Amino acid sequence: MDRYAVIGNPVAHSKSPLIHADFAQQTEQQLSYEALLAPIDGFAATVADFRAAGGRGANVTLPFKLEAFALAERHSARALAAGAVNTLVFHDDHIFGDNTDGAGLVHDLSINLGLRLDGSRILLLGAGGAARGALLPLLKQGPARLCVANRSPEKADELAKLFRPHVIGTQLFASSFADLAGEQFDVVINATSASIAGEVPALPDGLYGSDALAYDMMYTRGDTAFMTTARDRGASRVADGLGMLVEQAAESFALWRGVRPDSAPVLERLRRQLST
Ligand code: NDP
Repeated sequence: MDRYAVIGNPVAHSKSPLIHADFAQQTEQQLSYEALLAPIDGFAATVADFRAAGGRGANVTLPFKLEAFALAERHSARALAAGAVNTLVFHDDHIFGDNTDGAGLVHDLSINLGLRLDGSRILLLGAGGAARGALLPLLKQGPARLCVANRSPEKADELAKLFRPHVIGTQLFASSFADLAGEQFDVVINATSASIAGEVPALPDGLYGSDALAYDMMYTRGDTAFMTTARDRGASRVADGLGMLVEQAAESFALWRGVRPDSAPVLERLRRQLST
């Protein structure tokens, strides 16, 4: 049986084994998928051991996405743009690295939530790994404007500069949180880690246009603090990142197995589990 795994530290909380087991059953693929805890200084050794034991591929989660990028010998364009890898494919003669996080986000926004990103005004909050991974897939949707805003604004500036060569027809710009005053957006994506501490980025009022969506990449039982605050401040719709999680997994599965699973029943099941 082909073996796959998610490698992280910590990793026990990961929903990936459950998601991929569901995908495998649904698509009738014979595979196993486990969670592997790598020591903080032992990511490469964990990958090597797993590959030697017959592993065919792996997902990589915090804090190893940059190390996975360094370990991969070939990369997809979106992994190169993200500078981080969340999916490894073990070929006989090389390791291929991809990044499916941004594609998962775009799939969730455009298919699951039915949003039209083409021509839209997008605010991306944060300038860490998740924001960087999201930028190229978001730009490919052809938004009219895309603003990257970060608590440390110089990092948002760096990201905007890095991605400007990829821009065709989108106004890509960077901002501090305070300088967003007077701007309006159709989609506001929280790619900061503030929600993990129950915090909310300090944003000015009036950012949400009519019918705007507030999207938090984080997910938890019930609404995150960002979602609650966004609703209070005029967002018509709010969503969390559970759909992104399932869709990035579906992208990885498709890369490994050549078949894209139906993510809807898996997302429904996870949502039910999270709410009980
Ligand atoms: P990083 O540590 O790389 O980046 C953290 C970012 O959050 C930085 O921009 C930092 O700003 C900002 N930040 C942290 N605390 C605050 C705060 N209190 N107020 C405002 N900004 C803050 O994290 P990642 O990019 O890897 O992850 C970001 C989030 O995305 C996490 O919640 C993670 O769980 C989620 N995620 C979800 C996925 C999914 O599938 N649903 C996939 C990947 C990530 P500064 O530069 O100023 O420090």
